[in-house]
Amino acid sequence: MPGTTERADISVVIPLYNEATTVEELHERLSHTLESMGRSYEVIYVDDGSTDGTTEILRRLHMKNPRVKVIVFNRNYGQHAAVVAGFEKALGGVIVTLDGDLQNPPEEIPKLIAKIQEGYDVVGGWREGRQDSVVRRVLSYAINQVTSLIVGVKMRDYGCMLRAYRRDVAERICQCREISSFIPVLANAFAGSVAEIPVAHSPRLSGRSRYTPFRLLRLSFDLLTGFSLLPIQAVSFAGILISFLGLGFALFLAVRRLLVGPEVEGVFTLFAILFFFVGLQILALGLIGEYVGRIYMEVRRRPRYVIKEALE
Ligand code: UDP
Ligand code: MG
Repeated sequence: MPGTTERADISVVIPLYNEATTVEELHERLSHTLESMGRSYEVIYVDDGSTDGTTEILRRLHMKNPRVKVIVFNRNYGQHAAVVAGFEKALGGVIVTLDGDLQNPPEEIPKLIAKIQEGYDVVGGWREGRQDSVVRRVLSYAINQVTSLIVGVKMRDYGCMLRAYRRDVAERICQCREISSFIPVLANAFAGSVAEIPVAHSPRLSGRSRYTPFRLLRLSFDLLTGFSLLPIQAVSFAGILISFLGLGFALFLAVRRLLVGPEVEGVFTLFAILFFFVGLQILALGLIGEYVGRIYMEVRRRPRYVIKEALE
């Protein structure tokens, strides 16, 4: 079995971006857990352009254990691109993802696998007693609500990457050639049945989260316009509503003119109303631009990532 291209029972995919301080401990705990499960497995580390020596550590882990595969990107492409690259190499019947900073305890993997065996296509973890800052938790909560709305599947924690997928779901995710991929959302688009179970969460011990508030804001924008037409439909709806209101107002003014005669007051009110509509128009333009920009990005069909080195 070692080092073969044979199918394994479980593939574990882990994206890493400058995680040299945690990767060895992670590997140790992960191997221990996987060994104790008594299944065949492989671990796929995807180095997302690290510059802190993570790559060298991964090379060593691969030399020592043929069940460790390593994919090295030529630069940083983001967590989700890294996971997709791992999916493409994965041979397991079930594919598990987790973060490489030890915030997701590898000891929780058997729970996910047990749930998958109940017959679910995707099993997500939700972080019980989440160990992140208040600001981060509030932002995550908002993003989670937005995501639940656009996907149409309510989940407690779309941001948790401690998840398990059946092989066919992962394969379908790989078939999506779109640039903005948010794995849990794509998975829910294809999964027949989804379950969510509580998993433990640890604080980040070293380094800091790559998701700054600004990046989270961009992510939610990405989710909104990348996975749904909801914003543009909301603007269209607002447009219809305002037209009707405007019509009503015009009628009201016409009747008033007949009854009261010509009036010139209220010029500044008019300005306020005008500014409101100008703002709305700019918003609508921006939104259209956003979608056009996305179409442009997609039609270029650029590769989503470039693999510099693959140790298999
Ligand atoms: N990560 C990555 N590429 C990136 C950013 C993050 O591969 O551009 C990895 C990172 O090494 C970690 C995981 O994705 O293993 C989660 O990242 P992070 O801890 O920054 O996110 P958070 O836990 O705050 O959601
Ligand atoms: Mg983290």
